[in-house]
Amino acid sequence: MGTTAVYPGSFDPPTLGHVSLVERGLAVFDRLIVAVARNPLKSSLFTIEERVELLRESLAGFPERRIEIDRFEGLTVDYARSKGAVAILRGLRATSDFEAEFQMAMMNRHLERDIHSVFLMADYQWFFISSSTVKEAASLGADISDLVPGPVARKLKGKYPGKG
Ligand code: ADP
Repeated sequence: MGTTAVYPGSFDPPTLGHVSLVERGLAVFDRLIVAVARNPLKSSLFTIEERVELLRESLAGFPERRIEIDRFEGLTVDYARSKGAVAILRGLRATSDFEAEFQMAMMNRHLERDIHSVFLMADYQWFFISSSTVKEAASLGADISDLVPGPVARKLKGKYPGKG
C-alpha cells in the first residue's frame, strides 16, 4: 500500500509553489492527499469547490493513482488519521513560515503522536510566492501568469475583470 501523506492548506488559490511542493512530496511519499481545509475563520477569494477544481486542473500532470484531491473540515490530524496517512506535509518558505508552522506541528503532535509533520521546501524560485501576494498583485492588475498554473491565472483574471 505504501506511505500516504496529507498536504493540507487553503490553496486560495494554488500557486506554482504548491505545485513544486507536491512534486517534492511525491519524491518522498507513495501517495499524497492534497486537501483543502475549510476554515470558517478565514475569508477566501475562491470557494472550496473552486479551489478543489483548480487543484484538480493544476495537478493533472501527476500520476492519478498517486494523488487525491479532497476537502475537509475540523482537525487536520483527525482527517489524516481517517485517511490512513502517516504524515502531514507542509511547506517552508524563506523564514516567514517557521514560527507558525512550528506551533502548529507541536499542537498536532500533542493531539496525535503517530502522525508526523514533514516539512519540505519548494524550489528556490518559489520561495517568495504566496497565495496572498499573488491575489494582491492580480487585484492591482499585475501579470501573475508565471507564478500560478494556467487554470488559476485564467480564473484570477475572471475575478478581477479589467485588470492586467
Ligand atoms: P495555509 O492557510 O494552511 O497556510 P496555504 O495554501 O497558504 O495554506 O499553504 C499550504 C502549505 O503550502 C503551507 O505549508 C505553506 O507553507 C505551503 N506553501 C505555500 N506556498 C509555498 C511556497 N511558495 N513554497 C513552499 N511552501 C509553500
